[in-house]
Amino acid sequence: MTNRTELGRSQRWVIKIGSSLITNEGRGLDTDAIHDWAEQMAELRSQGKELLLVSSGAVAEGMARLGMTQRPRALYELQAVAALGQMGLIQHFETCFKQHDIHTAQVLLTHDDLSDRQRYLNARSTLRTLLSIGAIPIINENDTVATDEIRFGDNDTLAALVANLVEADALIILTDQQGLYNKDPRQHSDAELISEADAMDPEILGMAGSGSPLGRGGMYTKITAAQRAARSGAATLIAAGNSENVLLEIANGTGFGTLLSPKTEPIAARKQWLAGHLVVKGKVHLDKGASHALTEDGVSLLAVGVTEISGVFNRGDMVSCVSHEGREIARGLVNYSSVDANKIKGLSSNAIEGALGYVDEPELIHRDNLVLI
Ligand code: GLU
Repeated sequence: MTNRTELGRSQRWVIKIGSSLITNEGRGLDTDAIHDWAEQMAELRSQGKELLLVSSGAVAEGMARLGMTQRPRALYELQAVAALGQMGLIQHFETCFKQHDIHTAQVLLTHDDLSDRQRYLNARSTLRTLLSIGAIPIINENDTVATDEIRFGDNDTLAALVANLVEADALIILTDQQGLYNKDPRQHSDAELISEADAMDPEILGMAGSGSPLGRGGMYTKITAAQRAARSGAATLIAAGNSENVLLEIANGTGFGTLLSPKTEPIAARKQWLAGHLVVKGKVHLDKGASHALTEDGVSLLAVGVTEISGVFNRGDMVSCVSHEGREIARGLVNYSSVDANKIKGLSSNAIEGALGYVDEPELIHRDNLVLI
């Protein structure tokens, strides 16, 4: 189980900021708060952390831009307002991060994107590339095509899916409450803040109280998000986003909010998650060099080490890697379809473009998407 010191020191964080927190009492976005979080995130970046931000606030900003005082009722209107407001949301973040010389990138996602194998792999590569170039991805639901958050107040689930996607160490959910209480604090004066729990403990879902699965921004979605994040080994911290220096304090290991940790060790959880994820669609047969490199050096699988392809698969499918001795040694998410893999097998990475006319990734299977068996 993760403790607060470990969480504070961990490297890759997904930080989720909800609408109620980022909205300035119906007057659009709370720009001071955004400025403050950006400052803290810049400090965390300089400490070597990799950060991804999942932020709502598009509807609130859209309403402010249009001078609306009432939230529209019709879904299509909300979607239009969100599209309009997303511009401002991103603009505010960009301006604030620019002051710290940090690049930001806008990423709009839907849950469906993450259940489709190809899009999943595309999103994963994009986010990882953004992190590797030091940018902070600013992610929101793609409200034009998906309406989960508009209807259910649920960017928590999206944030957890992002944590799975990039195998984050921590999911930090900033909210307008102190954390998770054992009873609803609005109804019970003796409600106590839960400091730590196992994310999978069934009792804590019960404590989320009246928050039905459809409750807007309730604790229920936060706990189910923590459970989802735990599946890929991420610990979740639910904390009050308006506490002073909240992110820096979390990094210092201070006892803020509620920590919901995964039971299994992160590495084991990640392996289980990847391995249990999909059915194997095909096989790639490796030569001796690649078989050794994979098992002994933990490297990515390159096309040059592949002698034969069997089965029919698409980019993003799970394939089995078979050693030169005919034994399955690994499984992983493949970057090229079986048709293309056949064309590039035995070739060096810089020959991929010549053979296919494009390059997705230099590796056939990236080591992060590979599990040794
Ligand atoms: N994704 C939307 C946003 O960023 C929805 C939030 C809402 O329904 O207020 O604002």
